[in-house]
Formats: sequence, structure tokens, C-alpha cells
Amino acid sequence: MTKTAQSVWNECLSFIKDNIKPQAYKTWFEPIKPIKLSGEALTIQVPSKFFYEWLEEHYIKLLRVALVRELGNDAKLIYDVRMENTYSSNRPQIVKIPSSNRDPLKPQKVAVSLEVDKRELRNPFVIPGLQKVRIESQLNPNYNFKNFVEGDSNRLARSAGMAVANKPGGTSFNPLLIYGGVGLGKTHLAHAIGVEIKDKYPEKTVLYISSEKFTQQFIDSVKSNTRNDFIHFYQMIDVLVIDDVQFLSGKAGTQDVFFHIFNHLHQNGKQVILTSDKAPVDMQDIEQRLLSRFKWGLSAELQAPDYETRISILQNKLFRDGVEMEDEIVEYIAKNIKSNVRELEGVIISMIAQASFNRKEFSLELAKQIVDKFVKNTKKEVSIDYIQKVVSKYFDMDVVTLQSKTRKRHIVQARQLAMYFAKRMTKTSLASIGSQIGQRDHATVLHACKTVDNLTETDKQFRKYVEDLTKKLTF
Ligand code: ADP
Ligand code: MG
Repeated sequence: MTKTAQSVWNECLSFIKDNIKPQAYKTWFEPIKPIKLSGEALTIQVPSKFFYEWLEEHYIKLLRVALVRELGNDAKLIYDVRMENTYSSNRPQIVKIPSSNRDPLKPQKVAVSLEVDKRELRNPFVIPGLQKVRIESQLNPNYNFKNFVEGDSNRLARSAGMAVANKPGGTSFNPLLIYGGVGLGKTHLAHAIGVEIKDKYPEKTVLYISSEKFTQQFIDSVKSNTRNDFIHFYQMIDVLVIDDVQFLSGKAGTQDVFFHIFNHLHQNGKQVILTSDKAPVDMQDIEQRLLSRFKWGLSAELQAPDYETRISILQNKLFRDGVEMEDEIVEYIAKNIKSNVRELEGVIISMIAQASFNRKEFSLELAKQIVDKFVKNTKKEVSIDYIQKVVSKYFDMDVVTLQSKTRKRHIVQARQLAMYFAKRMTKTSLASIGSQIGQRDHATVLHACKTVDNLTETDKQFRKYVEDLTKKLTF
């Protein structure tokens, strides 16, 4: 039988269906139409730009696996974004998609000394060339200044960021440390500075990296005896953006190597930009000498946005997604979701998804339902004790067994799940989760979270555990 776009897509769908929740499947996959198959490239039609972004952000792995199963390793996916398809049956709600679609950032090349080049830089970002290596900046061009709505809550950080972008390494804001709570725009602003610098100074080498990835690369480099390459690589960067440095707490080795890289960059007039969920004074388990470096430049806080800013952020988001919504609804959302920007966006995303799924109009009623859910979820922070109780009960054991030192598989799994939920549902640090769940250290908790993530992707039975427990813990 010859393959057609439809037949390939049908196979993909049945695989996808098995791997995600029915609601998500209905919302995000049923509206897709396969339209073309040429060679290994499948073109699918999606109803909006927003839809495409959502798929890319949340389901790209799954899509890739599904496609590779059908079309082999060279499988390609192409999106055809249909604008005229509307979310509501009678009145088109998508009116415009702003053409602010940025070009991808230009590739950047750095000259490397021969000595390093010969040994091949073992850094995942580097594609070794003859004399120059290409370093992907890892920047997300959509996180730019234009999309970063200004307000009282972020004015200082934003303008400091702008100043740095205008003169990287040339201001007293070095390092620039942006700090603030979850979902307030730290990552966005950090990218925006990098993106702006690439626009203004294309020849500068900018690199964005999360502290987690930085740590992992460092550990790998130690294992493979390439620690010097690692350091050398980072010393070539002109503008280094490191996200979530609180993650370095307790990691002495990584802090040490970062300290050396930082000094080198700073001495050579290179710019360092850091983000953290805490102000330097509140950071724990970070070496004093590194903390004092953090304080050299400027620490700028991102605060929770005020009402006016929340309105502007919502409007900006709607505009970018090409969606229109009545003022009354926007105001309702802004009045009720106060704590962070990610949640504001979350409400809009759910609204669009719900409206598109049920072919409903955006209504105040719908907004109320969705906001209600968000508010409830954030209000209720479950305790680690409660999590341990629920998990033990689910697996028919008592809490003492769950916490015990045994290596029996089902008990280990229960313990790992408890750690995973503690991390996901509370604001407790890894170290403290570990000490509350059977006196383990933070590395064990981190390992548990990764294991659960992996198993959830690969093991259906296990995913069922996670789903059941999520339900039990949230209702
Ligand atoms: P953090 O890193 O502080 O947890 P993010 O940078 O990931 O937060 O921001 C969460 C979401 O909110 C992102 O989608 C981001 O684009 C958006 N966002 C945050 N602040 C703003 C802002 N001032 N204007 C527009 N969008 C924002
Ligand atoms: Mg972030």
C-alpha cells in the first residue's frame, strides 16, 4: 500500500492518542489536517500560529517519535498555518497576525586558537570547522524587548537590560543580575538582552544557557577529561547569559569553574548576565567569593506586575496570537490573576484551547471558569507530609515503609514519586524535600525527578500512576 499524507497521519495519531490525555488529544490533534506527503516530509495544517507554537512547545518530542516511526529517521514535519480557520463558527475571531515574526538569529562564528581546534571542542554547541567554530546562541528570538511589556514592576530591570544591550561589557552593570519570583519574566528579559545585542552587534558571540545545562556540561567535561576545553569554550564568549543561577547552590565544583570563567570574562570586558529566583543576599549554599562577584554589578528585581501592566501584557499576548477578546473579559482576567505573568498567559492559552475545542466564543463565563481553576490551583499548596500520605496509601504501604532505606523496586518507585510531587507541587528546595522524605540528599531528589520524567514518557503503567496521583493530589 502506498503511503499518503492521510495514512501516515492516521498512524501517527493512533500512536499519539495512546500517549497523551484524551482532552489534550482532542484539543490539539483532532483539529489538524494532513495535507501533503512528499518523500519524508509531511505537511500538516493547523488552525493558527498559536496552535503551531503550542505544538512545538509541548508536543514536539511526541510528534517526532510518531513521525520517525512512520517515515524513518529523516522524517520532516512542515506546518501550514491557516489563518482563515476561526475558533468560533459564526464570527471570525482571529483577525490579524502581526508580522513581527522575526528572522532567525544570524549564526555566529568565533576564531579558535589552533591548539584548541585540533583537539576538537567537545561542547554540544560547537560545530567544529576549519578555523572557525559556529556557536549557536541558544537565544529564542521571540523573547525580545518588543514583546516584553514595560511597567512599574519591571522598569528598572528592563532599562538596565537595555543599557547593557546598548553597550555590552561597557556599563557598570556587569554582571547584570535579574532576580524575582517564578513566571515574572526573568528568562524572557535575559533572552531579550541577548537578542538585542545580536541585532546591534552581530559580530559578538552571545550564548544563553541554563545553569542546569551548564552544570551538566561541566560534569560531562570532568568525566571525559575535557575540563580545560569546557573552560576555554566559555572564555571565548562575549556575552554570557546564565539563567537560574540559584540552581548552582550546593554545587561547589560548578561554582568553582564558573568563578574562573566569570573572572576571565569580566577582566576582558565581556558581559555577564545572570538570573536568579532570589536576591544575592538570600542565596544559599553559594560560595562567598562568587556572591561577592554577583554584587559587583547591578541586581535588578522583577516584581509582580500591577493591574495596568497585567492588562497590557494580556493585550500584547492576544495581539501576538492574533486573537481578539472583549475588554470586559481581559479586565476580569487581570483583576483575578495577580501573581505572575506565566499564569496570565496560561489563562489566555486555556481560553483559546477551550474555545477552539468546544467551538465556543470567548465569554466572560468561560473566563470565570478558567480563572477559577487557576486561582484554586495556586491557592492550595499541598504539604510534603500530605504528599507522602497520599502516595503511600495509593501503593498500599505506610509512610515509614515509603521512607525506609529498602531498595525494593516498588518502594523505591513510590518514594521517587513522592519526591517528584513534592518538587512539582511545593516550593520546597531539593535538599529540604530529601530530608523530609527519608533523609536523602538533594541529588537523590533530583535523580528521582528525572527518573519519574523518563518513566512517564516510556512506561504506560507508570504514567498511569502519575496521572492518578496528580488527580488525587489536586482535588
Ligand atoms: P521566569 O523566568 O521569571 O520564571 P519567564 O521569563 O519564563 O519567567 O516568563 C513567563 C512568561 O511570561 C513568558 O512566556 C514570558 O514571555 C511572559 N512574560 C513575562 N514578563 C513579561 C512582560 N513584561 N511582557 C510580556 N510577557 C512577559
Ligand atoms: Mg525562567
